[in-house]
Amino acid sequence: MGRLSERVAIVTGGAGGIGAAVARLLASEGADVVIADVRDAEGARLAAELGGRARGLSLDVSSEDGWRRTVAEVERDLGPVSVLVNNAGIAEWGSMEDQSLASFRRVVDVNLQGPWLGMRAVAPSLRRAGGGVIVNISSLAGLTSYAGIGSYAASKWGLRGLTKTAALELAPDGVRVCSVHPGAIRTPMTAGFGDAYTSGQPIPRFGEPEEVARMVLFIIADATFSTGTEFVLDGGILAGQPAVVTSDD
Ligand code: NAP
Repeated sequence: MGRLSERVAIVTGGAGGIGAAVARLLASEGADVVIADVRDAEGARLAAELGGRARGLSLDVSSEDGWRRTVAEVERDLGPVSVLVNNAGIAEWGSMEDQSLASFRRVVDVNLQGPWLGMRAVAPSLRRAGGGVIVNISSLAGLTSYAGIGSYAASKWGLRGLTKTAALELAPDGVRVCSVHPGAIRTPMTAGFGDAYTSGQPIPRFGEPEEVARMVLFIIADATFSTGTEFVLDGGILAGQPAVVTSDD
């Protein structure tokens, strides 16, 4: 018996990268995993690999109708949802003055509106399940920022705030809501980043999707006294700068 048997989990953006690692780990712990992604073929392939009652569903997380259909289908076939991992996300670069409004909106629609719609759509199902857990995949850019990623940082800071509001609103129903803040993780999203990108970190490497997945599982299965909380895995970046102070004494 896995630690998540009898649980029905929706993982958005679960067809690749971090989401696929989360889907694999939750399934290995006995959850019925629904991979909800715009990449239908990859989602279906992964669901087949996971076996059991795993399935891939086509979902654009920025669509309210899409969420309504998804939750209805999952409830009908698998029962009430007790875990939601809002993982789907996109990054589009550009300085505040250079990025187009359309690009800014695309990023916010997927990264912030998407989880907001997801939490609203799934909340009644979580109540029917008798409680559950929502994990929102924010970013290190939801705790700090870098030049040239304004829309991404805004969406991820927003998701962090939304997480706390949802935690307060859903606590009476036995639902915990936490955010996860990864630094650089080796996925298709960071495929173009060289090793120099992480060489200045206290832990000078990219994180692996499986490391994020283990933190997500920890939040779901073990962090039973945490809600509205940020969980950081950043290779030590937030610890500060490497020592630069010298003394002549
Ligand atoms: P990824 O490899 O690009 O995977 C994301 C998945 O979500 C892809 O299958 C993607 O499809 C899908 N997706 C995109 N838009 C969607 C939508 N509207 N509805 C449903 N699915 C959608 O990304 P990742 O690196 O695994 O990132 C996963 C999450 O972690 C994101 O929220 C990201 O912001 C966050 N994160 C990543 C890192 C990192 O270093 N990788 C660091 C911090 C936070 P397409 O490929 O077709 O877009």
